[in-house]
Amino acid sequence: MAEVAYWWRGRLYRGGEAPPLAVPLKLVEVESVEWLCPKCGERAEWGPEPKCPVCGARCEPRTRVEEVPELVDAVEALERAFSRVCRARFRGAVLLEPWGAFLPLFTWRPLDLELPDGSRLVGAYAGRPRFLKRGFRNGSAFELLGNLAAIVWSGFLECLAFEVEEPEKLVELLSASAGFI
Ligand SMILES: [Zn+2]
Repeated sequence: MAEVAYWWRGRLYRGGEAPPLAVPLKLVEVESVEWLCPKCGERAEWGPEPKCPVCGARCEPRTRVEEVPELVDAVEALERAFSRVCRARFRGAVLLEPWGAFLPLFTWRPLDLELPDGSRLVGAYAGRPRFLKRGFRNGSAFELLGNLAAIVWSGFLECLAFEVEEPEKLVELLSASAGFI
């Protein structure tokens, strides 16, 4: 049974110690092979063959089982993190032009929060995404009541809209724990 750890700003935490918006991640077991010295346990140095850097003995392969956090994308990570403090449902994404008319910079709370997949959450917004209605691609625009929209920067401005309970509270929590730019 895989254990659950909590990821926050590049570190893993146990349940009791995890900050409120930490992302729950399953730890998955992966096998790796290490070449070790049979006498002193040192890691091999690789020349023409694997040799111990201390005694020069020929090293041998040993299989190790390591626990690593599963990889989740930004949507999944944010949905899990937000769901720990309020119910969250992902409602859609849109690409925003960085300097377009639909990017109301003054209404966003700028943040800088790294996500497990390496992308960054650069801003959060609480309220109805009126400005998104014309920006949504693929299908009809939709309106969310009392939602939160989050922006993730990953080479372009992608706005991910989540429907959450108490969006103002979530934005406050994000601001307090993610730090202002
Ligand atoms: Zn050795």
